[in-house]
Amino acid sequence: MATYPTLKLRIAGDWRQRPGAPVHNPLDDSVIGEVPYATRADLDDALAAAVEGQRIWRRTAPARRAGIMREATRLLRDRADAIAAAVTLEQGKPRAQAKVEVLRACDIIEWDAEEGRRAYGRVIPAEPGMRHIVLREPIGLVAGFAPWNFPVSSPTRKVAGALAAGCAIILKASEETPAGAMHLVEAFIDAGVPRGVLQLVFGVPSEISEYLIPQPDVRLVTFTGSVPVGKRLSALAGAHMKPAIMELGGHAPVIVCDDVDVESAAALSATVKSRNAGQVCVAPTRFYVDDAVHDRFADAFGETARAVRVGDGLDPATQMGPVANPRRLEAMQRLVADAVARGARVLAGGERIGNRGCLFPLTVLADVPDDALAMHEEPFGPLALISRTRDLGEAIAKANALPFGLAGYAFTHSAPRVERLSEELEVGNLSINHLVASVPETPFGGVKDSGYGREGGSEGLACYTVTKNVSHLVG
Ligand code: NAD
Repeated sequence: MATYPTLKLRIAGDWRQRPGAPVHNPLDDSVIGEVPYATRADLDDALAAAVEGQRIWRRTAPARRAGIMREATRLLRDRADAIAAAVTLEQGKPRAQAKVEVLRACDIIEWDAEEGRRAYGRVIPAEPGMRHIVLREPIGLVAGFAPWNFPVSSPTRKVAGALAAGCAIILKASEETPAGAMHLVEAFIDAGVPRGVLQLVFGVPSEISEYLIPQPDVRLVTFTGSVPVGKRLSALAGAHMKPAIMELGGHAPVIVCDDVDVESAAALSATVKSRNAGQVCVAPTRFYVDDAVHDRFADAFGETARAVRVGDGLDPATQMGPVANPRRLEAMQRLVADAVARGARVLAGGERIGNRGCLFPLTVLADVPDDALAMHEEPFGPLALISRTRDLGEAIAKANALPFGLAGYAFTHSAPRVERLSEELEVGNLSINHLVASVPETPFGGVKDSGYGREGGSEGLACYTVTKNVSHLVG
């Protein structure tokens, strides 16, 4: 049985219910809950509690913080099946993938918790009697904004980073997928995170960001979402001299050379593309395939894609659920129609399934001209675009032609090609011969319009700290 929880805000040590907006199941458009919207008084309360929470958490020993964080992962693992079901209901992804998301969130929390114990400073040599000591201190209260594509693991990146570094955080998670974030926060609260250290709000996104970001007590802004909103929030943060972590969109290129097992690369690509119905900022999207192997790659990709079972994420046989909202459905239909009108060939999918909900099949287009809208606009859905390239130079040039620079992938066994790709691809994360963009211990983030700052790895944790240099002349 899949049940959807009663949604609440977490403010100043209480769970609060408020009127808000309906939450829909993207499978059939049914209403499954109501997300509460924080009032202005709720936000004032959250801020006051966060200031006190920040004072307490900063002075909590890193080992104690790590202990509470590990306890939260124990609770999340115990509750993973129920959390996964709620995520499937609100977001659409298959339940097995939702459970993997919860478990991945636990891995992130554990890694950050342990890394928080290693936020070492430095002692810099100086003349006799002088000590220069570099301290790494928690940056202070964080305002975190998380999107709907990963209702659990995206907020986790922000919450785990902040808590591990000794920062309090006010999280505004997605109003479209609120249960994942609520379950996450609940696990931390049940694990013993003190009052005011971790709070959860929902509301009109622009009203909350415009309230929180200018507050003098907020010392860091972290946002995952679209490039236009990221630019707006980073401008607001800049106007108030707040540093920001911006994890924005991508349009990941995949360069397929002629020296690999093409059929395996194509099958893997189709499978990975189907995950979360392609609504992943690092999803492989533009496939630049060497002319010598293009047709074999396209055939194998189309064949695997056509076999992907699309439907209700609660059915164990389903491999891909609906896209998460009508905006994504509209985007898929618009981008496919435009590409086909410009001469692209449909190798799989292409048309909406049924006339209720947001089911759209894994769609593969070949011979997609460079001027097709989909080649520029992030599809953020189950759409793969295959193009023929003459050589590696042309593939790299096309890969770099967009303003995005988040993930990039390549398939080749040639050491010189790997060297060239590593040097020339303009991305924050490059994976070769596999399609995993990041793990908890590696830094994840973009270049160009894909944003700045990192999540994960020691680089990610560093974003939640500031360095203070203390020079001490003895005697
Ligand atoms: P959108 O631009 O309307 O919103 C993107 C996210 O930002 C949402 O979570 C939304 O709640 C939030 N948001 C919007 N305005 C805000 C504001 N003023 N203050 C704070 N938060 C705000 O787009 P959408 O239709 O929800 O998603 C579509 C696009 O967003 C996709 O095409 C994709 O490019 C991008 N996206 C990226 C990621 C990612 O992981 N980087 C995740 C979700 C969406």
